[in-house]
Amino acid sequence: MEAGQGLWSKSAIDYGTVKHSMLSLISLTFDDGFRCQFDRALPVLKTHGIPATFFLIANQEPTHEGRKNEWWKIDWRDEDLAMLKKAVQEGHEIGSHSVTHDETKMPEQPEFEARESKRRIESWMGTEISSFCYPYYHSHLYLGDAVRNAGYRQARMGAQNSYYALSAPLDFNLDCRQVSKHDDVKEWIRPDHWHVLTFHGIGDEHSGWEPIPLDRFVAMATELVKYRDSKCLELVTFKEGAERFRQPPAQSSASLEKD
Ligand SMILES: [Zn+2]
Repeated sequence: MEAGQGLWSKSAIDYGTVKHSMLSLISLTFDDGFRCQFDRALPVLKTHGIPATFFLIANQEPTHEGRKNEWWKIDWRDEDLAMLKKAVQEGHEIGSHSVTHDETKMPEQPEFEARESKRRIESWMGTEISSFCYPYYHSHLYLGDAVRNAGYRQARMGAQNSYYALSAPLDFNLDCRQVSKHDDVKEWIRPDHWHVLTFHGIGDEHSGWEPIPLDRFVAMATELVKYRDSKCLELVTFKEGAERFRQPPAQSSASLEKD
């Protein structure tokens, strides 16, 4: 996105016009730190100037949930850190998705999952982590208090396909849509509302859970930017979406820079 192109970089007065013209706000989130997201989706996002949020698991296991030779994930090696820091510089957000992502352990150690994942990722990334994503969509039931106490500013659960009215107060725990390869992009758009999308695998079933084939992802991204460029919607990180409900509009300044 070029400077000044984004609707939200306009003046506060223009923002009022935009808001009342029923703009739709959409955030793309990616769970579990699957390598396929960075190998396949990230270049597509870069091509189109789409910002996204990646919820990463704060442990150094090479695969997700003990898989053998599939579902490869970020394990925080030096090359990962360099790649992730570059992604943040380009406008993407990194959030926390717990330390263990283990349904048998997390209920026993909610403070550790919330606070230690934040501490680790912040120390690896050298930047504040303000968004948390509850593993398995429903673990807010036992992690919710710990996540609030750890100092996060917003958290994502799911997946009930909620839309949030831009004119209404926002909850701390926020719902999302688990994107399916059969989704119709038009259904993601609801004027004057915020909608959060969630992706897991990008590729095939060896890439990650509920995979979206790359050609479908490319088609979705291409259609989204068509709507963005015709001023029907704006694409923002999860954090930026939540901040829109808190900040005076003139202070918002999200834009994804291309090299
Ligand atoms: Zn997960």
